[in-house]
Parts: sequence; C-alpha cells; structure tokens
Amino acid sequence: MTLTRKTAAELASSIKSGEVSAVEVTRAHLDRIAEVDGPAESGVHAFLHVDTDSALAAAAVVDQKRADGDELGPLAGVPLALKDVITTADMPTTAGSKLLEGWRPPYDATITRRLREAGIVILGKTNLDEFAMGSSTENSAFGPSRNPWDLTRIPGGSGGGSAASLAAFEAPLAIGTDTGGSIRQPAAVTGTVGVKPTYGGVSRYGLIACASSLDQAGPCARTVLDAALLHSVIAGHDPNDSTSIDQPVPDIVAAARKGADGDLSGLRVGVVKELGGEGYQAGVEARFNDAVALLSKLGAEVVEVSCPHFAYALPAYYLILPSEVSSNLARFDAMRYGLRLGDDGTRSAEEVMSLTRGAGFGAEAKRRIMLGTYALSSGYYDAYYGQAQKVRTLVARDFDAAFAKADVLVSPTTPTTAFPIGEKVDDPLAMYKNDLCTIPSNLAGNASASFPCGLADEDGLPVGLHVMAPVLADDRLYRVGAAVEQAYAAQWGGTLLEQAPALDGRRGESATADRGVVS
Ligand code: GLN
Repeated sequence: MTLTRKTAAELASSIKSGEVSAVEVTRAHLDRIAEVDGPAESGVHAFLHVDTDSALAAAAVVDQKRADGDELGPLAGVPLALKDVITTADMPTTAGSKLLEGWRPPYDATITRRLREAGIVILGKTNLDEFAMGSSTENSAFGPSRNPWDLTRIPGGSGGGSAASLAAFEAPLAIGTDTGGSIRQPAAVTGTVGVKPTYGGVSRYGLIACASSLDQAGPCARTVLDAALLHSVIAGHDPNDSTSIDQPVPDIVAAARKGADGDLSGLRVGVVKELGGEGYQAGVEARFNDAVALLSKLGAEVVEVSCPHFAYALPAYYLILPSEVSSNLARFDAMRYGLRLGDDGTRSAEEVMSLTRGAGFGAEAKRRIMLGTYALSSGYYDAYYGQAQKVRTLVARDFDAAFAKADVLVSPTTPTTAFPIGEKVDDPLAMYKNDLCTIPSNLAGNASASFPCGLADEDGLPVGLHVMAPVLADDRLYRVGAAVEQAYAAQWGGTLLEQAPALDGRRGESATADRGVVS
C-alpha cells in the first residue's frame, strides 16, 4: 500500500520499527500535495502554505532520535495539516484573511508546540473561511478549497482545507477548530472523522479568536483511533489559557480501542427528536436511520429525547458569535498586525485604520462585525445579546435533561451533503443552516463528533453521524465512533473514503476525471 493511504497509527508503527523513515513518509505526502493540491483554481487547494524544508527537517529529527535509541511518541514522524488560524513561529498565519497576509506570528500556539514536542511533522497550513466564519471555505480571501469526492463541491467550512487534505490523502492527520461546527461539518461532507472536544479541553493559546466562548480546537483524521491519538497529544491543561480545564483528560485512546470490539451493550443512546424532518435531505435521514439501527444492533439501548430549545440555538448563536467577533476583530487595527494601507504621512491613524479594514476584511467578516456591534450597542444589548445568553442557558439545560436519559445523543451532522461551490455563497441564511445540528454543543460546551455513516442515495456523497457527549465525557464519543467504524468497515471493506469515485478504480477513469482527484 502506498504510504499516503496508511493510517497515522500504521505510519507511526512503521517508523518506530524502522520499516520506513519519517523523511520518506513526509516526502510521500509532500509529493501527493504537489500532485493534487494545485493549481488554486482547480486543484483540491487544501493548503495555503506548504513548508517543505521545515517538514523534512522535523522528520529528520525523528529519524535521528530513533537512530539514537530514544523513545518515540505514539505519533512521532507522522505528517499533519494545521488549520491556518493557529499560530506557527516558522510559517505565516493568515486566518484566511487579506488582513493577515504575510504575517508571521512571533510565537507558536500551545497546540503547535505540543505537536512539535510529540514529533508530529507539520506539512503546512490549511485553508479556511476568513477568521473561521463560514461553512464552505468560500469566504477564504485566497479562494475556496474543493471536496475530493467531487471537485465542483464544497469541502465544508470553516475547516474545509483540513478535511479536504485528509480526504485527498495529502495528510493522515489535521487540526481543526470548531466554533459552531467547523470541525464536524467538514468531516461529515468529506467522509472523515472530526471531534470537537469539551470546551476548555484543548488550549486556545495561539488560536486566533473567532468567538472566544465558543471556539474549540480538535483532531481531524480518517480513522477514530487516529483522532484519539491526536486528541491526546493536544489535550490537557494550559496555564496560558484561562478557560483551559485543569482536570485529567479522559482516556480517549483506551475508549477508541475498547469501542473497536463493537460491543455497545449498556450504552443508552438518545435520538434528538428536533434534529431531523423538514429541511433535511432524504438520503441524509436514511443513512442516519441506518446508523441508529446499527447502534441498537451493537447492543445500545436507543431512546428518543426532546431538546425543545435547540430550535432557538441557531438564532442565539448568530447574536452571540457576531458580538464576540466584533470585539475580537477590533485588534486588527492596521497598527499591530499584517496589512496597513494608506500610511503615506498624509492620513490620520483613523483614516489608515478605516482604509485597511475596509479593504482587508471580506463581506462575511464585515457583516458579522456590524451585526455584533449592533447587538451590543446600548439600548439593544438586553433585547439581543442578553436574550441570546438566556437561550444559551436553556440549550444547556436541554442537554442536562437529555443526558439524564441517555449517555450520548445522536443526530445527522448536517442537514445535507456537500453542495456545489457557489450555490449558497450569496445567501447567508442558507449557509448558516448547515450548522443546525452542531451549534447546540458549542453553546453548551459539551463534546461532540462526526463519524462517516455512508453515502446518500441521491448523490453518492458522504453523510456524517453526529454524536454528542456530556462535558468531559469525550471518551464516550470514541467508544461509539470506533464501534460504528468497525461495523461499517466490515460492510464497506474499509473506510468510507475507499468508496470515493475519485479514488476508486471500479468506477472508471471518466468518473475519476469528472468528479474528483486523479489518484
Ligand atoms: N459555520 C459556522 C459559522 O459560520 C461555524 C464556524 C466555525 O465553527 N468556526 O459561524
């Protein structure tokens, strides 16, 4: 099997045993990126920046350590794609915005530092919607990424670049961030695994803030075990983040291994009544219903639960998020970071600021800054922001009540499969609806994940099973994910990605050329 098809766990063990070097593994992925990622106008375009030299140097350090007889960590030498909203001292960090084009952060994020310490090889930085606002990567200032299942479709967002890099076999691991669904929705529409840890479970130090009370970074991978291994590298308390949880991380790797024996007896699964029905694609609902039947076949007890306030989660989110964005994006003032326009000695600081922000922010960033500033303004604060915060409490109480009846909750991850690029870009409300199922967990701060659960009949595109667990019970996601994954692997003969037309010789050359990446 080619190196780029292997899982992270397999690669790490081959590197450890000396069967292959970390440099060879890195080179294979860099070659794959060179083959399929560009050109930006028609390739997968998962990456905004690839750092060949620093990736090969990091890989060489791992090979040297092995030669010296040093103990290697469980993912040492494995390549990774890092969402370009996480700071890296040796690579530019743009957050998908013109405002930060060319900016080099003075420090590594805690996540970046932990990846490096684990010997994980950072290949480069992945594309995203500007400041992580969007569901398609079409809001990136640098052009959209494309879905490897069908290059005319979106790979989800905001972390579409990270998900596309996995689905195109450019990297076996990636990091995403999830404020309202940006890890889980891209995972669902690309047939990959994405986990949003409990809020505070992974440090936000060095993560460029979108909405600080909602943002959470997490692992993206092609298998559940790989996601668990990566999660355990980046998780854990960080004194540099005041919202970081100072408690032991649950043993997620053990949970993923246990889940793989396919026994879910004793587990209570709650199907959320409100997350389905009108507005959900038939093929998505069909695969979701199959997944629920599978859970019960694996021994889980399936019950229905009601979360009546989830209906108000989306509107509450679109007041809370823009409010925080309007404050967080105020720091991009043309003085401290990145772009500065019109500073020719004739203009005031305010004029330079206004010229820079006017040209540097895209339409969606401006829309949310205006919405948020309005929602926070005196006279409106109680009616909008204050009300939304009350709804947030009601959503959290719905979760509490549901988790009294079930150990995990399930729903589809997204109402539809990947839609064509351009279809929703001028219709913000249609775009926002992609996150109907994912947003409640950001409001409440609990852990959630998306796992592949098949292909929709209408379009043959991937569908995600959304699993939600209580705060600090991230291990339950992995138990369920691994159990479902092994059952599907028996049905599909491997992971869902092996069914991708672009990557599957059985559907022939023409399908390959028309619909996806030539592999
Ligand atoms: N799509 C959602 C939004 O546009 C979520 C973004 C995210 O999770 N970063 O806000």
